[in-house]
Amino acid sequence: MVSGQKALVTGANSGIGKATAIRLGRAGADVVVNYVSGQEEAAAVVEEIESFGVRAYAHEADVSREDHVVAMVARMVEEFGTIDIMVANAGMQRDAAATEMTLDQWQKVLDVNLTGQFLCAREAAKEFLRRGVVPEVSRSAGKIVCMSSVHQIIPWSGHVNYASSKGGVLMLMQTLAQELAPQGIRVNAVAPGAIRTPINRGAWDTPQAEADLLRLIPYRRVGDPEDIADAVTVLVSDLMDYVVGTTLYVDGGMTLFPGFATGG
Ligand code: NAD
Repeated sequence: MVSGQKALVTGANSGIGKATAIRLGRAGADVVVNYVSGQEEAAAVVEEIESFGVRAYAHEADVSREDHVVAMVARMVEEFGTIDIMVANAGMQRDAAATEMTLDQWQKVLDVNLTGQFLCAREAAKEFLRRGVVPEVSRSAGKIVCMSSVHQIIPWSGHVNYASSKGGVLMLMQTLAQELAPQGIRVNAVAPGAIRTPINRGAWDTPQAEADLLRLIPYRRVGDPEDIADAVTVLVSDLMDYVVGTTLYVDGGMTLFPGFATGG
């Protein structure tokens, strides 16, 4: 589906990023596995991707650091020749009640979740523009996927930094899509609902927590990282070449206001 394309996935040694990097490799892409800590996990992801007969390497970088992101994309261009797919996935939570939230907690989440995505998108787009469309590879000059969240539109008490960062991602994605589409670049977002990963372990790792969570999911299933990985892979393939500036919600219906299912 993305055979011969060069993909970079940030935060790719855990959860959704890991599944996405592996899925893209299985679909034929060469993959850069970005991580900020957890070198061994990253190496294991690289090994799994290489087992599909494609190329992969791990690259340590903090996506909130401009110099790190610039160097990461420059190395990819050197090693793989170019970049076709940027999955800006890295993200984090630092939860606190709004009145208790420190500036550091606020800033850190905005730096990683929003500024990090801007930096990754900017560096990828520069290379897409330099290279232009290569018809044998893809109809577009490049694809950027912003990993957002249902919380780009659902307010979330106790997580004002996270929800604000994802609300920002929505407008980042739409504005970049508007600005770059004329040059053949597709920018879209994937908005996961509740996916079983370390970031939200407390929400699903006891039967009571999972039962509470399922009340928010009309499809009555907590998502797996592979649900998101599959969606990203189809979204960046030419099967979705006419999809530009859209958010693909992959959430089992979480954004259908399930609280209203029985009245309201
Ligand atoms: P995760 O904690 O398993 O993965 C997050 C990854 O981002 C990790 O590899 C982590 O090391 C990396 N990361 C954090 N800070 C970084 C930095 N400064 N530089 C580089 N990498 C960094 O959680 P996940 O659920 O896989 O989250 C992936 C993305 O999906 C995030 O953007 C998250 O907001 C989003 N998301 C997750 C869910 C869910 O239910 N799990 C729901 C909606 C959105």
